[in-house]
Amino acid sequence: MKNILTIIVLALLMSTAYAQTNKRVVAKKPQTSVRKPQTTVRKTTTTARKPVARKTATAKPAAPVKKSKLDLCPDNKHPHAIDLGLPSGICWSCCNVGAELPEEFGGLYAWGELKEKRSFLFNNYKYYDSGSGDHSWNYNFPVWDLAGTEYDVAHVQCGGEWETPNPNTMKELKENCIFEYITIDGISGAKFTGPNGNSIFLPAAGYGNSKGRDLVGTGSYTVSRRGGMEPYAWRLFFNNGRCTFDYTNGLGIYVYWGASIRAIKGGL
Ligand SMILES: [Zn+2]
Repeated sequence: MKNILTIIVLALLMSTAYAQTNKRVVAKKPQTSVRKPQTTVRKTTTTARKPVARKTATAKPAAPVKKSKLDLCPDNKHPHAIDLGLPSGICWSCCNVGAELPEEFGGLYAWGELKEKRSFLFNNYKYYDSGSGDHSWNYNFPVWDLAGTEYDVAHVQCGGEWETPNPNTMKELKENCIFEYITIDGISGAKFTGPNGNSIFLPAAGYGNSKGRDLVGTGSYTVSRRGGMEPYAWRLFFNNGRCTFDYTNGLGIYVYWGASIRAIKGGL
């Protein structure tokens, strides 16, 4: 009997041990399958991080840096004061008043006005004497030379030492620089290269008359002084072929017509 009991006990012990072994094996499988979801969770965490990185990347275009198609400036922080190596030591801005890039037109301004207009007429000109009846000769100008004053849109908009060039400064640019009429990416204008090899580009932004901006492809740039024979005005004028600087340009350029302005600063 003892032997039989011993065999039974042994058999029970073996079957229990076998069952436990099986249980362990079975138990291991769920553990393995539990780990897999953890891996999946990690993946979700990884993909969740990406949109955060994207948000940071999309934040950059909020302040886009405009890049010029012309290679005339040291960097993209316009306006620059460009030293052309002129005898006076005067530096010219790389951009028109109202423009953010050298090739942008910027604004057109009647002489002594600070705002752009849809049309440029004698009777919507700030300094026209409306009581006179004759538009040709009657104006109430506050100053003869507006450079650096409250009537100088270049000085008001650009600040600091920036101001509208006077006739001598404009003449110096024309007489000391090489004039080329060039077109880059559909934008035409005058490239003036100074004695030291540096250049500025003046877009052919047209001028302002009763129709607003007219004759794009020609350039019309004003100066700080009146000529004394109102209603005419000094203009640097250019098109594809010639560049002139004189009083009225022989075309009856009126002081109340809109012109581009390129600011200057410094000088000896
Ligand atoms: Zn510049």
